[in-house]
Amino acid sequence: MDLGISGRWAVVCAASKGLGLGCARALAKEGVNLVINARGSEALEQAAQQLRALHPAIEVLTVVGDVAQPSVREALLAACPQVDILVNNAGGPPPGDFRDWQREDWLKAMDANMLTPIELIKATVDGMAARGFGRVINITSGAVKAPIDILGLSNGARSGLTGFIAGLARQPQLAGHNVTINNLLPGSFDTERLQKNLHTIAQSSASSVDSVIDSQRQLIPARRFGEADEFGAFCAFICSTHAGYLTGQNLLLDGGAYSGTF
Ligand code: NAP
Repeated sequence: MDLGISGRWAVVCAASKGLGLGCARALAKEGVNLVINARGSEALEQAAQQLRALHPAIEVLTVVGDVAQPSVREALLAACPQVDILVNNAGGPPPGDFRDWQREDWLKAMDANMLTPIELIKATVDGMAARGFGRVINITSGAVKAPIDILGLSNGARSGLTGFIAGLARQPQLAGHNVTINNLLPGSFDTERLQKNLHTIAQSSASSVDSVIDSQRQLIPARRFGEADEFGAFCAFICSTHAGYLTGQNLLLDGGAYSGTF
């Protein structure tokens, strides 16, 4: 299927590894030009080289830095000739007990996982509407639907974003001009972050990493972790011309782990 987005420009935040890179790869294969971002320059440049090799006609530009910093967001927008597609992503907040968190911890989580995507959306959606095409994807988490107790900072900040997006996506001045905004909710995907989390669980429970991996897989009806490329392929479809009637949705990709009818 031709997704109809060849030649478009996308900003993909936090994209040197994991789910962000999976999205960038899928968009690159469709001929989408990219501005990608991450804090570590070495992995970011490696990712850019990998992406350029996927399509002969695309440009791939990089912006190093923490996307939660206003100057980095400005650089991202300045590097992109025209933002047709925006994939919002950032590292997730650390786990812990809410009794230990201070105001600063909450502000940091809300900055990275709620206010940063909102700022980027604010800077781009009216231009998308004026041009009659726009796609915004926010990578959030399955924790928005089924909260994880030790990830309270994530549960809270991402739910704030989700509530805001539910209203914004339905504005006729966006939805009526072919600008869609959707959230993608990953369950367990086999990325560096997941591997680190599994090692932490193994250490704290005095179990082997293999047994933790095995028990986590048993919790998922698909009996496996997701792959970043399947996440990316889904993201690319939502960015396609075929998905213009899909907006304001929370789309869970979790191998069936969430046990609910709706
Ligand atoms: P990952 O494998 O650790 O990759 C994270 C990517 O984001 C890296 O390229 C990292 O590069 C970049 N990054 C992190 N913080 C950044 C920041 N502040 N500014 C710019 N770039 C940043 O993580 P992932 O598994 O792909 O997770 C992506 C998001 O999905 C996270 O928010 C995570 O909480 C969420 N999520 C993941 C899963 C899962 O199973 N994997 C499940 C639920 C939710 P640098 O470190 O060099 O910046």
